[in-house]
Amino acid sequence: MQKKSVGSAILNHKCPRCRTGDIFQYPFLQKPTKFTATYKSCPHCGVQYEQEPGFFVGAMYVSYAFTMAILLGTAFILYNFFGDPDLIVYITTVPAVVLLLLPIVFRYSRTVFLYGFGGISYNPEAASKAPADNS
Ligand SMILES: [Zn+2]
Repeated sequence: MQKKSVGSAILNHKCPRCRTGDIFQYPFLQKPTKFTATYKSCPHCGVQYEQEPGFFVGAMYVSYAFTMAILLGTAFILYNFFGDPDLIVYITTVPAVVLLLLPIVFRYSRTVFLYGFGGISYNPEAASKAPADNS
């Protein structure tokens, strides 16, 4: 089986151990209202995502970093490419962009946090293993 890169696994919200199973239960475009639904463990290799209750609270810090980048990026674009519009434009546009990107920020925060602090290392054998062949 071809080795899966960590970059594409994070980009596609795949399990850090097998890089095959999903972290989130529904594709965002299929069920946008359930974008927070996260598997407790990998549906492919069975590794537990949530190491302890409230583990993903730490993803808040990653989320904060993403949100600040979006906030400053939006303000930068408004200032440089839209000729520094009135304050009201900043006050309405910046939060609107942040809110629109909220599901994306939420998911990438959890994925990045899980990869960075989940303590789960990549195991290519877990990827080739069938989901329920331990009978
Ligand atoms: Zn897995």
